[in-house]
Amino acid sequence: MKAAVLVERGRIDIREVDRPILGPDDVLIKTEYAGVCGSDLHAFKGEHPFRKPPVILGHELAGTAVECGAAVRGIRPGDRVTIMPLVSCGTCRLCRQGRENICLNKQVPGAGAWLGSFAEHALAPAAVAYKLGVATPSELGVLAEPLAVGVHAVQRQARVEPGSRVLVLGGGTIGILTALAARAAGAGDLVATDLFEFNLALTRALCGAETIHASRTGWEDDLTRAFPDKFDVAFLCSGAPPTVGQAVRLTRRGGRIIVTGLFLEPVPVDLTAVTLGELEVLGSQIYDHRDFRTAVDWIDTGRFDFRRLVTHVFPLERAQDALTILADRTEDAVKILLQVT
Ligand SMILES: [Zn+2]
Ligand SMILES: [Zn+2]
Repeated sequence: MKAAVLVERGRIDIREVDRPILGPDDVLIKTEYAGVCGSDLHAFKGEHPFRKPPVILGHELAGTAVECGAAVRGIRPGDRVTIMPLVSCGTCRLCRQGRENICLNKQVPGAGAWLGSFAEHALAPAAVAYKLGVATPSELGVLAEPLAVGVHAVQRQARVEPGSRVLVLGGGTIGILTALAARAAGAGDLVATDLFEFNLALTRALCGAETIHASRTGWEDDLTRAFPDKFDVAFLCSGAPPTVGQAVRLTRRGGRIIVTGLFLEPVPVDLTAVTLGELEVLGSQIYDHRDFRTAVDWIDTGRFDFRRLVTHVFPLERAQDALTILADRTEDAVKILLQVT
């Protein structure tokens, strides 16, 4: 089958690779669309902690089940599906606590034997395959994965409640979807920052957030004047080092800071402010089945205008261009999809 293989840092080649072999519990999926994610960009730039070339990138996909293993129930050839790209061991201490997302032995695509989704076929255990509604376009089904990241951050880690005052620092795909999930949870005041006006306009349109261009001088002071009680929750969604201090300064005493972004280097933090304010700082790592179910349901029911997140669709052959646009930001881009078949 055809696949987009990261052969070295910054270079993707289209190659023929062996189609994965179906096991009794697996579903073989003909990939229609695969999403390009921030973590794919990290790998492309040679900055990913464990995805190193040669590797087939991608973990977001939607497509059609074409073969099902003998033991598979509930999914049949012809069903359109997306996958939760996480297989947990089910037996480690964390899995037994229901924290499969941070399983000690978890498997993800693009690491070990599990191939990434930038390929004509994808294999996944049926246990992590989710059927899409008949009316759900595959290009929206791809968004279940990043949406589940936002749902997890908002519902499990931040525990946003109706009326919560929420600050989202960083408005890429994950930031926007986190803001949407906060809106769905009943957030009151919702403020989002980013460095790209295009992203801010999208965040305003999709979830009615107030937005701030993070390069404008004095915005933090203005925000503190507008919200003297500060924010109940701040989400760090971009991995940009300045957002760490912003979150610490703009979160109220007793509030929560949720870290979703990947920071490439250690960032100094004013921990005295954390002590004095009894701030809770919590990581948020991917999702579990509950979050993924919620994400698929929201997409199936059209809860938000998700289509507006998709700014580009390229054929698989142009994976190199897709990653280059995200790396160089030569044009406005939020979610880029690869059309595989
Ligand atoms: Zn992703
Ligand atoms: Zn485990």
